[in-house]
Amino acid sequence: MSVVDQHVVITGGGSGVGAAMAARFAAAGAKVSILGRRAGPLDEIAAQTGAFAATCDVTDAAALDAALERAVDAHGPVAIAIANAGAAASKPFAKMQIDDLDAALAVNLGGTFNLWRATIDGMQAAGRGRLIAVASTAGLKGYPYVSAYCAAKHGVVGLVRALAQELAKSGITVNALCPGYVETPLLEDAIENIVAKTGMTADRAAATLRAHNPQGRFVQPGEVAAAALWLCDDQAESINGQALAVAGGEI
Ligand code: NAD
Repeated sequence: MSVVDQHVVITGGGSGVGAAMAARFAAAGAKVSILGRRAGPLDEIAAQTGAFAATCDVTDAAALDAALERAVDAHGPVAIAIANAGAAASKPFAKMQIDDLDAALAVNLGGTFNLWRATIDGMQAAGRGRLIAVASTAGLKGYPYVSAYCAAKHGVVGLVRALAQELAKSGITVNALCPGYVETPLLEDAIENIVAKTGMTADRAAATLRAHNPQGRFVQPGEVAAAALWLCDDQAESINGQALAVAGGEI
């Protein structure tokens, strides 16, 4: 499946990994739609990449459906659905309320569910497609102070594994990309949070996070985008139900 003229929808496409994916898929000849909550960043990436942009909150299935309808009007049936929108609030478990867990599940797991539920019928009708989730190494191992995020990302990996089995004969593959720490606004927020909570300098906080990666660096958004593009290749048809770490050997 070449991505040329294929319609790829990327949630959270206004920044970080999602914006890098929009650029990479557009350069490869795909028809790109980016969905997210904030019109400003989405419009900026749309202007840079030629993507179609529509605002919606991925936790709101009706709003997501409406945005997808506009994307399909612009670019035709969705061939590749990348559930990338996510958020990683941190809090010690002893200070968490059930609302904290619900919020993490709603965006990271519920957002993935909503996107795929809304795009699966068209892919099944076409007899081909790609479902890709941007999970995290937090979907494969635990980290302190982000238990809700880890639970949600483990849930995404579970969804991927189950759906890959269910759809195995349909021409659709289902996979998760599991990045380690990626240099994006989400990482900047994490560093600011460590500084605020511990009094550590930003450089020291960044070094602490960088040390998780055996390569001693942050993963770059373009590296995650390149892995997503590869999963869309015809020759990647046998890669199904995988949770692929993009983490310099951390996993
Ligand atoms: P980011 O904050 O730049 O991107 C997340 C995007 O999702 C933002 O554009 C945000 O507006 C959007 N978003 C959040 N909640 C939304 C909602 N309810 N509805 C619609 N859009 C929403 O950060 P990023 O690092 O590019 O994150 C992309 C994905 O990568 C996330 O799923 C994140 O969990 C995952 N990830 C990030 C890292 C990292 O270190 N940065 C590591 C592993 C996995």
